[in-house]
Amino acid sequence: MDQKVCVRKRPLFKKESEKGDVDVIRDDNNQSLTVLEPKTKVDLTKFTEEHNFFFDEVLSDNTANKEVYKRCGSPLVRYVFEKQGKASCFAYGQTGSGKTHTMMGNPEQPGLYFLAADEIFTLKKEKGYSDLTVWVSFFEIYGGKLYDLLNDRRKLVARADAKQVVNIVGLQETEVKSVAHLMDALNVGHEARSTAATGANLDSSRSHAVLQVGMYSKRSLHDLFKNLTQIQFKRMNKSVGKLSFIDLAGSERASDVNDNDRQTRIEGAEINKSLLALKECIRALDQGSKHVPFRGSTLTSVLKDSFIGNCRTVMIANVSPGTSACEHTMNTLRYANRVK
Ligand code: ADP
Ligand code: MG
Repeated sequence: MDQKVCVRKRPLFKKESEKGDVDVIRDDNNQSLTVLEPKTKVDLTKFTEEHNFFFDEVLSDNTANKEVYKRCGSPLVRYVFEKQGKASCFAYGQTGSGKTHTMMGNPEQPGLYFLAADEIFTLKKEKGYSDLTVWVSFFEIYGGKLYDLLNDRRKLVARADAKQVVNIVGLQETEVKSVAHLMDALNVGHEARSTAATGANLDSSRSHAVLQVGMYSKRSLHDLFKNLTQIQFKRMNKSVGKLSFIDLAGSERASDVNDNDRQTRIEGAEINKSLLALKECIRALDQGSKHVPFRGSTLTSVLKDSFIGNCRTVMIANVSPGTSACEHTMNTLRYANRVK
């Protein structure tokens, strides 16, 4: 498996500097950065230890989503088209570090979801893949359970078939014909995610959001099976490739295992388990190991089919630049370093 690890630093916000936060991350060049760890908690302006890190890509705080896409997303989309393979892109990091900004973005600066869809439809047209259909699904993993974000957060179960491929039973898959169409579907899902968060004591920083874009080719089946429903029809089609975008739970939640609240502890343990399993799976695949611990978590078991065969992954480790985030930033960089 081919993989790449990138780090994206977000800008320091005015309200952070007003509270005395200073920028402790120096992006040295496109592949290296240095964390200047404060000497004391009292005087944040005195730096002592410098920690150097090297990654495949270092994206500085003035890097726009478009550039992030060009360096980290576009190679995945092109790979899926060229190799008819599978590609996954993970956004890892502390809550507030920019994961959702990277993936979803905003109307002024659309994120990787939009930019990838845009390139998919452009390539489809340019390369004359007129029979290619594009399908999306969007689900959430919360406390190890699956919820369909395109279907009212309906609870779903995953089952392994005879070939040990894990399928999510009843997951809504929607055919999309344009970028705007895909974004409409995603906005519904995104909304479902945050509404649930405010309404029912759920917290989106404790869940992984998984967007999958499947591409299928109709070939001549189209004419043969005209009477089929859309869903039946899709099943008859040949899978051309699949892209997955995973907006991971806040990495700091993994330490909720020590929280006083039982539910928080259970959720923290689940997040901890899935982030560890993810790291172990990527490492094992990279080293060509025979034993890959997919079953270590719900996250890795449902992504298993995207990790075998022709596949590629990109991890974008998001970091906040402020002094107050320094400890979490170091944890994120160490994690990313282990995946490398
Ligand atoms: P996370 O999903 O990791 O919790 P968000 O993506 O929600 O974090 O980012 C937190 C806040 O910071 C949001 O208001 C977001 O718009 C802003 N933000 C994050 N990254 C950037 C960036 N690179 N440039 C400008 N604003 C950013
Ligand atoms: Mg988020």
